Amino acid sequence: MVEIRELLIDHIGHRCCWGSHPARTWKIHAVEDCNVYVGTLETFLEEREVIRETEPYLGGKIDGKDNTPELGIWELDLRSQFPVLFVPYKETRVKIPNSETVEKCSDCAGQGDIPCPTCNADQEPGFYKENQMSQCPACYGRGLIAHRDGSDTICTKCDGKGKIPCATCGSRGLLKCKTCNGSGSLLTRKIAVVKWKTLSTRKVSATSGAASVPDEIFHRAKGVQLCNTQAYQCTPAYFADSFFLNTFSSDVIADRASVPPTARVICERHTISVVPVTRVTMRHHRQSFSFYIVGYSREVYLKDYYPARFCWGLCPCLEWLKV
Ligand SMILES: [Zn+2]
Ligand SMILES: [Zn+2]
Ligand SMILES: [Zn+2]
Repeated sequence: MVEIRELLIDHIGHRCCWGSHPARTWKIHAVEDCNVYVGTLETFLEEREVIRETEPYLGGKIDGKDNTPELGIWELDLRSQFPVLFVPYKETRVKIPNSETVEKCSDCAGQGDIPCPTCNADQEPGFYKENQMSQCPACYGRGLIAHRDGSDTICTKCDGKGKIPCATCGSRGLLKCKTCNGSGSLLTRKIAVVKWKTLSTRKVSATSGAASVPDEIFHRAKGVQLCNTQAYQCTPAYFADSFFLNTFSSDVIADRASVPPTARVICERHTISVVPVTRVTMRHHRQSFSFYIVGYSREVYLKDYYPARFCWGLCPCLEWLKV
């Protein structure tokens, strides 16, 4: 009983605006055990997907399927990359052998150049006009600049020609295709993106006494494992003396996370733990409040209601003057 009170006083001490008076003086009216069961199912899986990578083809040998056929994505041997079982996440990328192909660049129809969008707008690849000039904006095409005294001078912008070349392409009529970097061809290869991950399901079975405590408190609390099994696919655990635990285990297994179609399950792990929970009710005349002591680390959980809260978050902490 003394220990229970010490735990509460210590907990209140971490809240600067909560008064310790009720914790110190109110009577411990009731102490009840309301243990909680936590069940987990982890599914460790591997996911494989193919993506394509494209880059300009600048010549040279390619790793095509001339001699050896291309491997299917699940035929790739990735044993050297395999992570520790049940890691939360690992990703790796490998080139699929014999998967390279070279194709004509579709942006320039294999030409390596595209018609200039400024002076050859809307032209098909391969059709363009060279040396297209536009009117000089400085002299409006006259080639001369008029001055106030009536004299003219030669326009320096166009050298008196009245026309200037295309600023985008220098009136070549063509620009280098950016997609293929002027080569006209693209190299495409397939990349396997492989992800290992652990999907987790957790269930808490609290008796009505502990139902108001949030599940996270139990998930981080230390308990005792009643079972811990690992299999390709876990089946419900069997407890010869507890119908309740058998049902609880079945419920956890039935709640298995769904496996995406691009993935394969490697193995599963199923645990059930019991977390000791004590519910303590404190009373003073006709007032009362309850708190919980959770797990072997003896974490105190006290919901919103405590009879000596002063500032409601705006903290001048007058509390310390009163004690
Ligand atoms: Zn141009
Ligand atoms: Zn000009
Ligand atoms: Zn191109």
